[in-house]
Amino acid sequence: MSCGCEENRGTVKVVNGRYKPSGKFHFPQPNTPIRNEQGVLLGITNPRDIVHMHSYGGEAIFFESLGKGKLMASRCDNSDCETTGSIYMPFRIHCPDCLAKNTVIDITDKAKANSIVHSFMITERTGAFNTLQIPIKFVNIEFDGVCTILMGALVRGEPSIGMKVIPIFKTQNPEYIITDMLWVAEGTPASDLPEGYSF
Ligand SMILES: [Zn+2]
Repeated sequence: MSCGCEENRGTVKVVNGRYKPSGKFHFPQPNTPIRNEQGVLLGITNPRDIVHMHSYGGEAIFFESLGKGKLMASRCDNSDCETTGSIYMPFRIHCPDCLAKNTVIDITDKAKANSIVHSFMITERTGAFNTLQIPIKFVNIEFDGVCTILMGALVRGEPSIGMKVIPIFKTQNPEYIITDMLWVAEGTPASDLPEGYSF
């Protein structure tokens, strides 16, 4: 059964600083009844296909940079802030302490030189629309001089606490989502990276 979802699927352009959506963003489909063994109606399925518009705002630079092989963090440079100089990864648009707008900084070299597994979790139970290979090896990563810890997915090697890991970036056909950056064990050869990814 065709859902017609591919027809005229919604896209967005920006004209004079404003979103201009075109096409369809909602695709209702026929319900199906849910009945018990005796044929009594209990409910219905309710299929819906929706095109979300996800605005990145001040985080856009982070997602744009991943596809260029760059990891951008942010730093509070407010001299009146008690925690001035703190570097945030995950990227934070604003300082959580003084609420000033942070400065965007490039920590790619720092991440390549000194990223350590703080803790990890291996799971076979994933959320909807998972694209990562199962079992997923989630790693919490410490960066030298960064005051927060980043969650990532290790796709080559077995995780252990304290191990060194290297970021890889989807520089071919980036999707502008967090999986444009994945992690591999130190020493993984370039020939063993997933398709489209590079160091
Ligand atoms: Zn601050």
